[in-house]
Amino acid sequence: MEELQSAVVVVGAGLAGFVAALTAAEQGIEVLLCEKQDEVGGSTVMSGGSFCFTGTDLQAAQGIEDSPELLREDLIQVGQHRNDLRLVDRYVRDNLAAYHWLREHGIEFGQVQAASGQSVPRSHPSNPRRVIDLLHAAARQVPNLTVVTGVTADRLVQDHETGRVVAVRAHEGDQEFFLRAERGVVLTSGGFCQNKEMIAAFAPGKERALRLGGLGNYGDGLRMAWQLGAGLRDMPYVKGTFGNHPQAQSGHHTACMAVYKGAIAVNKQGRRFVDESLDYKLLGDACLEQEDALGFQIFDEAVMRQSVPGYPMFDFHRRITEGRLITAPSLEELAGKIGIDPGRLKKTVESYNEMVREGLDDPLGRKHLTHRFGSLATLEEPPFYAYPSTSAIIATYAGITVDEDARVLDIFGDSIPGLYAAGEVMGGFHGAAYMTGTSLGKATVFGRIAGRGAARAIA
Ligand SMILES: Cc1cc2nc3c(=O)[nH]c(=O)nc-3n(C[C@H](O)[C@H](O)[C@H](O)COP(=O)(O)OP(=O)(O)OC[C@H]3O[C@@H](n4cnc5c(N)ncnc54)[C@H](O)[C@@H]3O)c2cc1C
Repeated sequence: MEELQSAVVVVGAGLAGFVAALTAAEQGIEVLLCEKQDEVGGSTVMSGGSFCFTGTDLQAAQGIEDSPELLREDLIQVGQHRNDLRLVDRYVRDNLAAYHWLREHGIEFGQVQAASGQSVPRSHPSNPRRVIDLLHAAARQVPNLTVVTGVTADRLVQDHETGRVVAVRAHEGDQEFFLRAERGVVLTSGGFCQNKEMIAAFAPGKERALRLGGLGNYGDGLRMAWQLGAGLRDMPYVKGTFGNHPQAQSGHHTACMAVYKGAIAVNKQGRRFVDESLDYKLLGDACLEQEDALGFQIFDEAVMRQSVPGYPMFDFHRRITEGRLITAPSLEELAGKIGIDPGRLKKTVESYNEMVREGLDDPLGRKHLTHRFGSLATLEEPPFYAYPSTSAIIATYAGITVDEDARVLDIFGDSIPGLYAAGEVMGGFHGAAYMTGTSLGKATVFGRIAGRGAARAIA
């Protein structure tokens, strides 16, 4: 094939790509979704599957009181006021509609949990592979939507006179061709966690972190837009996420976050090194500063009882089955098994327990389980557990500047006509840190916006 013609071309078939392509196709126009890997799904199918939504029927059924105002406040606080408020406001406005859109496409969510950066539970767990399977099946039912795999987009083509993006240059093996887009191109090509050079350039010091995201995520879309003058946001905040096992591999494991249910984090010296209630990207930074970039989440049976089967972050029993959670009847024996001085670990846990029991101020500043949610509890009920944890870059959460309508903006803030971006390839929404579920949430919210916008845009 030398040239394919459609109204909208979407680059990258992860969550944002499927949402954008389906939304555009719902307008009755021809849409082409191209994926460079042989399989669709990207980072999305490897993810923990948590979506951040506010005001859902599921929250109401669990008696959770949340509000758009509180979501906004949390997003900005977690993002340390570095977020682009236009994007935050759009997410707050559109996230409930995005939730309903997913439900209409057959996606189901489990019990809502409180996770990183949330002052009330708003993490809606899903099975991410099933999410993609359902959307892929929906795409197959739409005659005006074509999904191609094994096709890599490598350049954007602009009209010489207008500067409008009118096509994508792509290749399949050695064969090069053009995907013409009468109305617009949507970049949904994910992040760049697999690109060592980009990580070294934008996140120096993070090379010690593991890299566990989508196998096709080399920042292709970001670089294509960058070539046309797109601006970049949040690049200094590319970070690893705490809670990943040091032997974790892409696609097989997700972070275990016992700290958000009451565990403490200690280093190889048996000392706590961080306020464990912080966003897990900040925990990831603190972990990288420890010897061998290694920490251990230490907890007791009372925390173990809060394991949530099927919710990756809190499924502690699963870690036993995987042979990765170390257990012992006493703290001293546990310390021996993980190579920490037994007396030191015991002392650390005792002083933590005393602080909690007496209501003393924590020298590291911990007041809650996660963000502003949950009360601290002592760790004293045997058996005890240790989960070795390091920092892994699972998503880059930074990228191309877009406006609230998902139009790509150049470095001077002007939109690049015909070009949209959604999902992990876009920057500006998260700011300095990250609330669980907002990456899948963002892919859905802005995927819909980008799909609608590109479908409407007339050259
Ligand atoms: C282990 C793990 C756990 C996570 N847990 C969560 C969670 O619980 N909640 C949450 O909100 N977020 C989570 N994330 C982050 C989240 O999964 C991603 O940010 C999100 O899925 C990104 O969706 P996307 O559609 O933008 O990109 P992706 O799903 O990565 O899709 C991008 C697609 O574009 C393709 N592509 C790239 N370049 C090209 C090209 N040149 N041409 C054609 N195709 C191309 C890629 O191959 C890929 O298939 C997690 C990530 C990981 C890895």
